[in-house]
Amino acid sequence: MVNFLETPSLLSKGAYLQLVVEMKLLDDAIIRSNEPEEVLTHHYQALGNRFVIPWRKVKGKLRRLVLEKQRGYDISPACALKDDLCLFCPSCLLFGGTGETSSSKVSYNMLSRVLGETFISTSTVDAVQNYTQNAVGEKDLKTGQALMTILTVPKETVFQGTVTIKDPTREMAAIIVDNLQRLTRIGARSVEWGRVDTRIINVRMSDREDISVYHLLEEPAQEVVQNDVTAFVAGLPPVDAAYATLNSQISVMLEELIKARSPQKEKKTKEKPTQLEIGE
Ligand SMILES: [Zn+2]
Repeated sequence: MVNFLETPSLLSKGAYLQLVVEMKLLDDAIIRSNEPEEVLTHHYQALGNRFVIPWRKVKGKLRRLVLEKQRGYDISPACALKDDLCLFCPSCLLFGGTGETSSSKVSYNMLSRVLGETFISTSTVDAVQNYTQNAVGEKDLKTGQALMTILTVPKETVFQGTVTIKDPTREMAAIIVDNLQRLTRIGARSVEWGRVDTRIINVRMSDREDISVYHLLEEPAQEVVQNDVTAFVAGLPPVDAAYATLNSQISVMLEELIKARSPQKEKKTKEKPTQLEIGE
């Protein structure tokens, strides 16, 4: 049985909290795109054609929500995407960042503790054929022409994906769960997603990431233990307390990081006197 960590750990302890998330479109979503990167349908061998929401889009939105709420509690209010990350706050701890490129210029990086996967529609897409042809045709376009691909994702389309917190504390889980529930709209430059209804439909703590929506959709009959999400969420601390606690724990964790580096420095300073002794 894997448990929550009591405090955030600098080094991984191999615990994974997996949240199976369902996102239902409440409005039609219009995808306007002339960039291949924005392709939001995918053909899977086992699943056929599906609408997909790339993980980086879900993660980007979730991170913004976590950061906004944190500012509301006056915790690292200056921490901002993309180049002003402080690498010292709950949001940076959860989603990671690079010290060198952030304006805080700290000497460490943080790996993201929130991991995810592509969100896949539970139903197949029939209209994807036209879209593929358009996408191929884009190569022949001459300057000045703009071929815009337009694809509608019908309302009530349901997407599923997992959001995993690596080495979670109760506070980290409370923050992610709260902000997932606040995820009511998802968008991108060229995508007008309407409103979405986001729900956590299953939860599991494990020593590995053993739930994959791809496999759930491929074999809906497979046995996945259904845990009580309501009871799980009820057992988490209130979100305001979770932010405050996690915020106070980060400085302690970072102290460990600095301590972990200092023995090397001590060694170097010790070497010099030793050499002097030999010289005498
Ligand atoms: Zn930050």
